[in-house]
Amino acid sequence: MTKPDYIMVWEECLAIIKDNTTEEGFKTWFAPIRAKSLVGRTLTLEVPSHYVREHIESHYNDLLLKVLTRVIGNGFRLIYSVRVVGNSYVRTLESSRETPENRAVVLNGDAQRYNGSAYAIPGIQKVKIDSHLNSNYDFENFVVGECNRLGYSAGMSISNNPGKNAFNPLFIYGGPGLGKTHLAQAIGIATKDMFPDKIVLYVNANTFVAQYMDTVGVNHQITDFLRFYQAVDLLIVDDVHEFADKKGSQNALFQIFNYLHQLQKQLILTSDKPPVELSGLDQRLLSRFKWGLSVELTMPDYATKLAILKSKCLRGGVEVPEEILEYIAENVKGNIRELEGTIVTLIAQATFTKKEITMELAHDLIEKIVQTPQNEITVAKISRVVCDYFKIAPEQIASKSRKREVAQARQIAMYLSRTLTNTSLSYIGSQIGGRDHATVLHSYNTVSDLIDTERTFKKYISDLKRILCQ
Ligand code: ADP
Ligand code: MG
Repeated sequence: MTKPDYIMVWEECLAIIKDNTTEEGFKTWFAPIRAKSLVGRTLTLEVPSHYVREHIESHYNDLLLKVLTRVIGNGFRLIYSVRVVGNSYVRTLESSRETPENRAVVLNGDAQRYNGSAYAIPGIQKVKIDSHLNSNYDFENFVVGECNRLGYSAGMSISNNPGKNAFNPLFIYGGPGLGKTHLAQAIGIATKDMFPDKIVLYVNANTFVAQYMDTVGVNHQITDFLRFYQAVDLLIVDDVHEFADKKGSQNALFQIFNYLHQLQKQLILTSDKPPVELSGLDQRLLSRFKWGLSVELTMPDYATKLAILKSKCLRGGVEVPEEILEYIAENVKGNIRELEGTIVTLIAQATFTKKEITMELAHDLIEKIVQTPQNEITVAKISRVVCDYFKIAPEQIASKSRKREVAQARQIAMYLSRTLTNTSLSYIGSQIGGRDHATVLHSYNTVSDLIDTERTFKKYISDLKRILCQ
């Protein structure tokens, strides 16, 4: 009995792919793929998980395009079908039907969002403005919990009514790896879905500064630069703290901001600190940042961490026992990026070494990759050391007690946390007795003054710094 066409076609493709990839790459990414059908020139392949599909799309699109054009011919379509628990998902790669020398690829359907340069394929059909949105960062993949609920709700309102709402600009701030870029991009994607004609543009502050230097710094073409940005309906500027001390770029952003805001176009900014704590930025710009709504993304709580882990497993098409996910949620103390790194590594191990995911494997991994280094200075460690030094109980520093030595220890712990860690004032407050950011700032200023005027204070601080930094 002869094999069906689709099997033969795919085997022919595999033979060419094998000659053009490493053995390891072939075994890992291509061998697990199954051909499912060939209808006309449309080939459907079943891939084991989103993870595999994403990897193939970002690393092997060029190769696949060449191979499929050779084997099936111009005008082929490739459909990926991803088998996820209870969920089948389809994406398409399609070759151009126009002219033989036009080797353009159209990423179709859902994939239209892949216009970012990371996915640029030579000859890709151009949309008017490349939005630089990454479709993995959409609301569907964004798990909502206490740590990000306000930002999420504001984001949903914005995408239903960009520009004409009370959240303009939306200023999203928080530490690294807490989802600022993801949330900002999700708002961009949802807006584009609701209003396909609106121009959405995502730009990282560093890219903005580099573009500014290239066009304005060299050619003095500020008008062209401004005109480009003034054409958009939703502008996302990520990591605005990177603008610190870059006066020319700040000025350009200021002009763009005013222009867009006046026309009721939407602005979204992200930063590692709230506007009041940003240094090196022009006051005029900071005051604009405060016009709309500022929302903080904080560290996820246990329930949110668990939900994020479950969502990543579902996307990876892998089932991981609940108690292992609980173990990870409890033990990974870092941000969402670290949490994601842990589960992605576990899934990768399970997929490619065919080992079962056991508690032991999870345990080893956590030991290896996420254990906090002994000498890392955290707010918790500072509190402990300060309590030890002043011989007070840890409960006291967290209490409302106004006893002089307790209040003083608390202020010193806040001062040291601001000086020695990268965390925000509100985070420090939340860790030391549930105080707000104003209290932390006040403590910091008080201790700074006392160090200048009182010798004993100076000694406390230098002793404590020595203990913490050894
Ligand atoms: P930041 O910009 O704050 O440094 P990112 O937006 O890059 O953080 O997020 C880090 C990683 O964590 C990304 O891979 C992102 O998809 C993931 N992530 C962040 N927040 C969430 C969330 N609420 N649900 C699911 N994944 C998230
Ligand atoms: Mg980011």
